Amino acid sequence: MRKIWVNRVECNVMMSIFSTTAPIRGRFAPSPTGHLHPGSLVAALGSWLWAKHRGGQWWLRIEDVDRLRCVPGADHAQIALLAAFGLAPDGEVVWQSQRDALYQAALDRLIQQGDAFECHCSRRDLAANGGIHRQCRPHARRPDPAWRLRVPEGCEIVFTDAVHGAFRQRLDRDVGDFVLRRSDGFWAYQLAVVVDDAAQEISEVVRGADLLDSTPRQIFLQQRLGLATPAYAHLPLVLDENGRKLGKSLAALPLRADAPLPALRWAWQVLGQIPEAIADARDARHFLALACPAFAPQRVPKSTAALHNRIFTNSP
Ligand code: GLU
Repeated sequence: MRKIWVNRVECNVMMSIFSTTAPIRGRFAPSPTGHLHPGSLVAALGSWLWAKHRGGQWWLRIEDVDRLRCVPGADHAQIALLAAFGLAPDGEVVWQSQRDALYQAALDRLIQQGDAFECHCSRRDLAANGGIHRQCRPHARRPDPAWRLRVPEGCEIVFTDAVHGAFRQRLDRDVGDFVLRRSDGFWAYQLAVVVDDAAQEISEVVRGADLLDSTPRQIFLQQRLGLATPAYAHLPLVLDENGRKLGKSLAALPLRADAPLPALRWAWQVLGQIPEAIADARDARHFLALACPAFAPQRVPKSTAALHNRIFTNSP
């Protein structure tokens, strides 16, 4: 890793990825907001294969910080479904809702360093600046202020994604000072994910490409908290025929625990892998045993435009 200075702001440039000698540990981190759908399976299988084909571990974390969006029982249904697909975690499953103390400690450190500040701005106050926070200009003090991370002028984060290649973002201009704890009191995803990936010693974050542009925020937070930056790979999003993310469309079929093979074969194809390698799979476990050594990360495509109409059917 090489350090560069951008307008006096120190930013790390990731020079090489997936070349670490630390133990390999990947993770899948679903939000329990409903059923796992085919798009989530791509992230689950992709992160599992990425770690496992190199002899690594795969962990599971339930991201339930936003308690308003969580559906009771969805977490256990997701864990059971993953097990039916042969995707069992190597470590203890953790729930973000039980980790307030860790997030508070990180926020306290950022406050102490002068990096985090209490913010009374409303959405309307931010609208004047395109929704991007650079300076507090509240019309009134709020009873429920948020906490934000100060992003210095000129802060640019550059990293290399294993699928998308070099990715750069000017955090001050494109994102602004971002929220660490929301005005409703819930921890922001960006803070929780950074604290947990570090606490669980995750060495590679493999997830959907919808989170590619959150990654610079996470890398900047890691730098402010003195944490290591894992390697990143962002998998193709599964889009429906209207180009919308599958998870938000009618095509978001629930996955069936009693018919894992068609969905696994389909996810394998979305990941750009060679169908012949898993053609003889008899069941989920056999599929994974065949897929693991055959997985070729360099074949994973950036997008799945050509697969819009090829959503699998659940018939085995
Ligand atoms: N919980 C997030 C989601 O379900 C994933 C976060 C991550 O993988 O970093 O979309």
